Amino acid sequence: MVFEGLSEKLQNVMKKIRSAGRVTEKDVKEMMREVRMALLEADVNYKVVKDFIAKVSERAVGQEVLESLTPGQQVIKIVHEELIQLMGGAVAKLTVSPSPPTVYMMVGLQGAGKTTVCGKLANYLRKQGKRPLLVACDVYRPAAVKQLQVLGKQIDIPVFEMGTGTSPVEIAKKSVDYARSMQFDTVIIDTAGRLHIDEELMHELENIKLSVKPHEILLVVDSMTGQDAVNVAESFNNRLDIDGIILTKLDGDTRGGAALSTKAVTGKPVKFVGIGEKLSDFEPFYPDRMASRILGMGDVLTLIEKAQASFDEKKALELEKKLRTQQFTLDDFLEQLQQIKNMGPISQFLGMLPGVNSKVLKDIQIDEKQMVYVEAIIQSMTKKERENPSIINSSRKRRIAEGSGTSIQQVNQVLKQFEQVKKMMKMFSNPRALKGLRGLGGF
Ligand code: GDP
Repeated sequence: MVFEGLSEKLQNVMKKIRSAGRVTEKDVKEMMREVRMALLEADVNYKVVKDFIAKVSERAVGQEVLESLTPGQQVIKIVHEELIQLMGGAVAKLTVSPSPPTVYMMVGLQGAGKTTVCGKLANYLRKQGKRPLLVACDVYRPAAVKQLQVLGKQIDIPVFEMGTGTSPVEIAKKSVDYARSMQFDTVIIDTAGRLHIDEELMHELENIKLSVKPHEILLVVDSMTGQDAVNVAESFNNRLDIDGIILTKLDGDTRGGAALSTKAVTGKPVKFVGIGEKLSDFEPFYPDRMASRILGMGDVLTLIEKAQASFDEKKALELEKKLRTQQFTLDDFLEQLQQIKNMGPISQFLGMLPGVNSKVLKDIQIDEKQMVYVEAIIQSMTKKERENPSIINSSRKRRIAEGSGTSIQQVNQVLKQFEQVKKMMKMFSNPRALKGLRGLGGF
C-alpha cells in the first residue's frame, strides 16, 4: 500500500491525540517529535520536515488548540491541512492552449517510466475528449521508438516518428506542424532519457524546448527512488524550468518521501501519479485525498471514481433501482463482487476506506481466492434462496455448505457479508449519506 509505513506511524500518533481529552503544549511537543520521526523515516527531505513541524507546532500550541473543546481533533485537522499544503494545496491542472495543438514535452531519466506515462497521459486525455498525437523523439534507442509504437497501437493513438536518423529537434518541430494539419489538438513528445543527468541530454532538451515552445514540460520521476527523485527534479527544474511533475510507481512506494517533498523543494506541483503498469493506472494527484489517505481518513472520492470507471453505467442504474425497491439479491451481490474484482486488488480498494490502515488490512487477510468459495456458495443456493436469503434455514445451510465444499461458518459469513454490502451500497446510492461518509474521520 502507498505510504504504508508513514501512514501506520502517523495514524498511531493521531490515535493518541484523538483519545486525549486535553492537549497541553508538552503533549504537542511530544507528538510533533513522533510526527517528525515518521516523516524522516518516510524519506521526506530533512528541511521540508523541519519547516512542516515548525508550522504545525506553531499553529497547534497556539490558542486555537488549547482553548478548543476538542483539542485532539484540532491537532489532527492542522496536520491534515498542512499535509495538503505540503503536497501543493489544490489540484494542479494541465495548461490547455486556446489555439491547439497544446504541446506537452515529457522529460526524465531512463527507466523512470516516461514512455509509459506518454501512453497513459494520451489515454487519459482522450477520455477527456482530446485528440492526442504521440511523438517519438528518443532517437538513441531504436527500441524506444518501437516501445512508443507498441503503446500507441494498444490504445489506438497515432505515433509520429521519423526513425532514428533525424535530430530530435527536427522531429519535434515537424510533429507539431503535422498535428496542426491533421487536427490533433494535443501533442505529447517523448524525449530521450539517460541513466544520469548529463550535459548533452540537458542541451538537447533545451533545444527542443526552444524550437517547439511546449505549453508544459512535464518531468517524470520514479517515486520509489525517494530523495533521489527529488534531487533529479531539482536539477531538471534548474535547467528547463519545468511546469509539473509526474510521479510514477507510487504503487510500490511504501514510504512516500518523494510525493511529500518534491513540491516544497522544487516549487513545482505533482500533477499526475502512476499507480501500476497498466495504462489505466494513472490519475491526477489530489493533495487533499492523499493527505486523508495518509492519516487513515480514507479516500472515498477516489474510490467512487474508480467504481464509476469500472462499473457499467446501465447496470449501475439497474442496481440503484433494485436497492431502492429492496430487490438486491445474492446474484447481484455476486455480480458486484466480480465488478469490484475488476477495480484492481481488493486490498488497494479497501485501503481507501476511512479507518482501514495497513494493520486492519493485515488482520482481515483478504484472500482473493475466497471469491471462488463465495461464488460456489451462492451457486449452491436455489434461485428462491438467492432472491430472498432469509428463507435459508440451518438444514439448508448445511446442504449449501456440502454442495459448495465449504463449511456452515463460511456460508454464514457470505450471508453476513451480503447484508453488509447491501447496507453499504444503500449508502452509496444516497448522496446525502455519501456526504456524511466524506466527513468521516471526525471533522
Ligand atoms: P522510460 O525509460 O522512462 O521510458 O521508462 P518506461 O516507460 O520504459 O518504464 C520503465 C518500467 O517501469 C516499465 O517496466 C514500466 O512498466 C514500469 N512502470 C512505469 N510506470 C509504472 C507505475 O506507475 N507503476 C509500476 N509498478 N511500474 C511502472
